[in-house]
Amino acid sequence: MALEKVVIIGSGCAGWTAALYTARANLKPLLITGAMPGGLLTTTSIVENYPGFPEGIDGTDLMMRMQQQAERFGTRVQFGATVESADLSKEPFKLMVDGEAVETETLIIATGAGHRHLGLENEHLLERKGVTYCATCDGALPPFRNKPLVVVGGGDSACEEAMYLTRFGSVVYLIHRRDSLRASKIMAERALANEKIKPIWDTVVTDILDVKQDKVTGVRLKNLKTNAESSLDCAGVFVAIGHVPNTQLFKGVLNMNENGYIIPLEGSRTNVPGVFVAGDCSDHVYRQAITAAGMGCAAAIDCERYLAARNE
Ligand code: NAP
Repeated sequence: MALEKVVIIGSGCAGWTAALYTARANLKPLLITGAMPGGLLTTTSIVENYPGFPEGIDGTDLMMRMQQQAERFGTRVQFGATVESADLSKEPFKLMVDGEAVETETLIIATGAGHRHLGLENEHLLERKGVTYCATCDGALPPFRNKPLVVVGGGDSACEEAMYLTRFGSVVYLIHRRDSLRASKIMAERALANEKIKPIWDTVVTDILDVKQDKVTGVRLKNLKTNAESSLDCAGVFVAIGHVPNTQLFKGVLNMNENGYIIPLEGSRTNVPGVFVAGDCSDHVYRQAITAAGMGCAAAIDCERYLAARNE
């Protein structure tokens, strides 16, 4: 088995940027994309706040450009592969990747984050039967056309999903547990100015109907201020209530906060020498494409310096 110098787990902005920098440092990185190459940005439509693209850029297009740039300098990529286990107890580190062992001197973790779920039993039972976590992926499907739709959440994702869904739904109810949005001002203003978006404030979804019909037909709601309960007909429930970091593989080994975000010791260095972290799996504050890319760059530089110091 060949010993890798650098393995990068994850193919979002952080992973591709770490690959670009380590490749240009002649470290011949191996990048393992995970099951969703390109990460969460491929589930968004237009990215308007990545510098250098004044007209905005499609999320998938941006990720493919990052991939091409990283590959141009010699990054090797295992597409669709996932890391099943990681032994960081001794060097070289040993990963199991789709049943095959991979050994590496250093590791850059850029595993990102996944969608947070509401935690309702019927949410799980009706997933892909009207419950979804990605408007860009599913919004145009026939069951949602010209029907009332529900978006849950009050952040940028919820506003973005709601605006996108106005192309397809007859009306989009934006259900938020507070009386104002958490989203950035520009996104909140745009969403609330859209006539097809109807906000429902101070309200949570308590159930999703109807498992007997094997499709979404409505939601049960509860107003948190009045405790009043109600029902609302809809053909789709788009859950946009934030993210959970993909860090389960490293639980008990790397320092994490109570929500599972990896806490580096300094810069991108984790508590295991030779293991670095970048992007949304360690960032619960900024969580932007550009900050993830910056963290990927920092992790690559830290990694390069670590290897150089070891070889002196
Ligand atoms: P977020 O900012 O964490 O917002 C999550 C929203 O879901 C909050 O309004 C939260 O309510 C609500 N929520 C959380 N758990 C809930 C639950 N169990 N039940 C009901 N509601 C719940 O997440 P996000 O919107 O996905 O954004 C994540 C990051 O990506 C942010 O930094 C954001 O700026 C960025 N982002 C940027 C863009 C853009 O610039 N175009 C687009 C998408 C995302 P509370 O308000 O009560 O906490």
